Amino acid sequence: MLPLVALVGRPNVGKSTLFNALTRTRDALVHDEPGVTRDRNYGVCRLLEGRPFVLVDTGGIGGQDEGLAGATAKQSRAAAEEADLILFVVDGREGASSLDDDILRWLRKLSKPTLLIVNKTDGIDQRTAQAEFSRYGFADVLPVSSAHRTGIDLLLARTAALL
Ligand code: GDP
Ligand code: MG
Repeated sequence: MLPLVALVGRPNVGKSTLFNALTRTRDALVHDEPGVTRDRNYGVCRLLEGRPFVLVDTGGIGGQDEGLAGATAKQSRAAAEEADLILFVVDGREGASSLDDDILRWLRKLSKPTLLIVNKTDGIDQRTAQAEFSRYGFADVLPVSSAHRTGIDLLLARTAALL
C-alpha cells in the first residue's frame, strides 16, 4: 500500500489548486491506479526520489455540521484520519482565522505528522505571511503559491522525507 497524504484546510484556501499543482508538476510521473484515481480527488505522485504516495484532496472543513457542508467536513475528517501525513493548508493573504484555529485543535488531537502550508504567497511578503502562523507552533512552515507553482518542489521533497 502506498502512503496516503491528505490536504486539509478550510474552504477556499487553495487545496484543489495545490492538488493540481502537485500532480501536474509531476505530470509524466503521475499514473492512474485502478480503484484509486477513478475518484478525481485522488492522485498518485511518483517522485524522482523517495516513495510514491497517494494524495487526497478534501472538500474542506467549514465549521458547519449540517447539510452538504457538514457531509463534506465529515468526509474531509475521515480522509485525514486515514492519512499517514497531513498537509494543513492556510491562506497567507487572509492570515489565521478562527476556523483555522478550530482545525488546528482537531489536528493536534489526531497527532499525525503535519506540515503547515501557507498558500497564496504570490505578490506578498512570504516572511510576514509565515510569521502570521508562527503561533501555531509548527516546525515546518512552507510558503507556496499553488497558482504560480512556487515552493512546490520543496514541498514535495519535505513530504517525501516524512514518508
Ligand atoms: P479550496 O476550496 O481550498 O479547494 O480552494 P481552491 O483551490 O478552489 O481555490 C480557491 C480560490 O483561491 C480560487 O479562486 C483560486 O484561484 C485561488 N487560489 C488558489 N491558490 C492560489 C494562490 O496560490 N494564489 C492566489 N493568488 N490565489 C490562489
Ligand atoms: Mg477544493
